Amino acid sequence: MTKKGQYGTQYPSFRFSPPQHWNHENSPSSSALPIFSLPCFPFSLISLVRFLFTSEYEAPPASPDRMGELAVEKHAEYILSVEKRKDDFESLVMEHLRLNGAYWGLTTLDIMHKLASVNPDEVVTWILSCQDKESGGFGGNVGHDPHVLYTLSAVQVLALLDRLDALDVNKVSDYVAGLQNEDGSFAGDIWGEIDTRFSYVAICCLSLLHRLNKINVEKAVDYIVSCKNLDGGFGSIPGGESHAGQIFCCVGALAITGSLHHVDRDLLGWWLCERQCKDGGLNGRPEKLTDVCYSWWVLSSLIMIDRVHWIDKNKLSKFILNCQDLEKGGISDRPDNAVDVFHTYFGVAGLSLMEYPGLKPIDPAYALPVDVVNRIFFQK
Ligand SMILES: [Zn+2]
Repeated sequence: MTKKGQYGTQYPSFRFSPPQHWNHENSPSSSALPIFSLPCFPFSLISLVRFLFTSEYEAPPASPDRMGELAVEKHAEYILSVEKRKDDFESLVMEHLRLNGAYWGLTTLDIMHKLASVNPDEVVTWILSCQDKESGGFGGNVGHDPHVLYTLSAVQVLALLDRLDALDVNKVSDYVAGLQNEDGSFAGDIWGEIDTRFSYVAICCLSLLHRLNKINVEKAVDYIVSCKNLDGGFGSIPGGESHAGQIFCCVGALAITGSLHHVDRDLLGWWLCERQCKDGGLNGRPEKLTDVCYSWWVLSSLIMIDRVHWIDKNKLSKFILNCQDLEKGGISDRPDNAVDVFHTYFGVAGLSLMEYPGLKPIDPAYALPVDVVNRIFFQK
């Protein structure tokens, strides 16, 4: 059962934020950065909503394999406990990307209808304390250097809490727009590293702030298209290898800017659906291991190009559910590994994309719940 046209090309708009293990191994200035914090505009929100609510995809059975249903209460407890622990390993690892962690954790809570468990005023105060007052950009934590990745996370969390009014929108959008280069590409911060992740992040951020007019969108799109490969995928720079995370960024940016006509949907759809392995999970590139986070990168891209029916969603749902820690909560990258907030978010978000019962639908381009995206674009 195919669904057509949910990501029309009339209209740019979308959301999202990326994972830390793809792609920054070789880039010193981004070694600590999760990619995207990640969720626009190029695809039609109306058709997206129609897709989400009229899908003919059948929800997975309630008790797949050994793990059973999504342990919503346990995952909510786990996310809230990570926030409270300040001195254990995971908290230390997360120190420099606390703003991304806040985005992953709070978005997961919202998708599971548990956002009321946090005090929004406390979160907003802390978010604002991570802003570099001079540049307008946000750091990963209080006193850290600003970077476009953290800036999108800040905007996404404030959007989630319906508190974008707390921002000096022009100051923040000037910071993001100032990172665009003459060739249309974007740097991540003042150090100048260029990557299509940053193109997505900047475009998503400015779209959420209604400030896409501050950049040269045509040149931004041209640069992303110059990173398209013969296999239909996209790399981080022209000639860079295709990678599922990078593809999400490029397709998401093209969706938000209404430029999906640059994508060869069948060719890219084929590359993406080949990411599903025998265990039902998805990998990010050929010959790599499956990993829960690719449930997001691959699935959201397939939805945006109308090819999500090319993978087996029941098998993927079972793979994600098998990665749950049913005792302590949280989701890991693959079965029996240690859980973390990052994979908990992408597991739950992936299930949301597959319309798992009881979860809020999430927007594949903006990586925010659909109701949040609708509030921003239809109730300004
Ligand atoms: Zn992963």
